[in-house]
Amino acid sequence: MDWRSLDETYVISTYKRLPIAIAKGEGNYLVDTNGKTYLDLFTGLAVNILGHSHPHILRTLHEQADQFLHISNIFLNPPAIRLAQRLVENSIQGKVFFTNSGAEATEAAIKLIHKWLVKHQPEREGIVVLKSSFHGRTLGALRLTRQAHVYQDFPAPSFTVYEVEAGSAEQLRELCRTKKPAAVLMEPVLGSGGVIPLSESYLQEVAAICQQEGILLGIDEIQTGMGRTGRFFAYQHAGITPDLILFAKGVGGGLPLGGLIAGPKLMDLFQPGDHGTTFAPSPLSAALGNAVLDVVLDESFSAEVNEKIAYLWQQLSSIRDNHPDKVQQVRGKGMMVGIPLNAAAEKVSELQRNLLAEEILVDVTQKTIVRLLPPLTISKAEIDRFIERFGQALAGWEA
Ligand SMILES: *Cc1c(COP(=O)(O)O)cnc(C)c1O
Repeated sequence: MDWRSLDETYVISTYKRLPIAIAKGEGNYLVDTNGKTYLDLFTGLAVNILGHSHPHILRTLHEQADQFLHISNIFLNPPAIRLAQRLVENSIQGKVFFTNSGAEATEAAIKLIHKWLVKHQPEREGIVVLKSSFHGRTLGALRLTRQAHVYQDFPAPSFTVYEVEAGSAEQLRELCRTKKPAAVLMEPVLGSGGVIPLSESYLQEVAAICQQEGILLGIDEIQTGMGRTGRFFAYQHAGITPDLILFAKGVGGGLPLGGLIAGPKLMDLFQPGDHGTTFAPSPLSAALGNAVLDVVLDESFSAEVNEKIAYLWQQLSSIRDNHPDKVQQVRGKGMMVGIPLNAAAEKVSELQRNLLAEEILVDVTQKTIVRLLPPLTISKAEIDRFIERFGQALAGWEA
């Protein structure tokens, strides 16, 4: 079957695709329709956080499928209630609203922040976000996404948005001197913006400013959550307490699921009828969410992940040291790595395809940044294999 030409004929091309069709996922690997196997360091863009076909995920999937697939929000949904409880118990005091995706989580946050400011802070307006942020592609979320090639000239909803530089608490302070924003929303590691980690001290300063000014602090953990950076949520490294946490991607164990955790200031603002969705939370997704949490919250699992994170970063430094002309930097946090290269976009795509030929799947973001989002289940031997083949590919590549 010529999947490529069928795809070009029948599917709107909003993604530049790699030239492989996937037949199967097995553990930390993907198998294509020609039987070639790839070490998956992309994990469906941080979704398959436990790799593919994880036995606990599959068992849970079958058990829940035998019960019910969909019921509607007019009923109590036990798997979702249990998941909400566990998300809260492992983050902030609060309540959960579930969605099907990350963008919908951002949309819900925009409405919730609006409710809060109308009720409690009518003199405030606007949400502060970071330059190069990504919070989703629906029109509301797009307004908070500060990447010109993403927001383009699409129509923008009229609420106020302020943009500040990531890492500059002074800019946020200055903004608060002249304007009266209602909320700050930031990714603890900017993902598609180029894998830019925010320092713990910066996050602490931002939290302090929000506290002093009486502004809501929202953290977008859609990509960084579920243990990806070595803590359940990445903001927890900084020891801060946000008012709002967005989650999605890895939480559904491969099925669509997202949502927000609203802290005490926000958790009782939505009343029946204020917001809703037909599908979310899918009982199937919620059951898988519980299965993901069973694994990532296990202390020995997370200790092992942190050991592998230390190992990965130790090995990555050799990549930078051995190729200083090609590799600008290795940055990120935990199992979220960005490697900006000194090369044109086409050359970086070529390197990505060379790695694919060597059975290693990596992502590229912002055209020239190799991005790794390995499964938390990756082994040290697989890290070694990646480092070896990436090193060879860099050596044999003219930037
Ligand atoms: C992926 C992502 C989103 C959007 O999630 P979708 O499920 O694609 O709508 C929002 N914020 C961050 C940080 C993301 O990485």
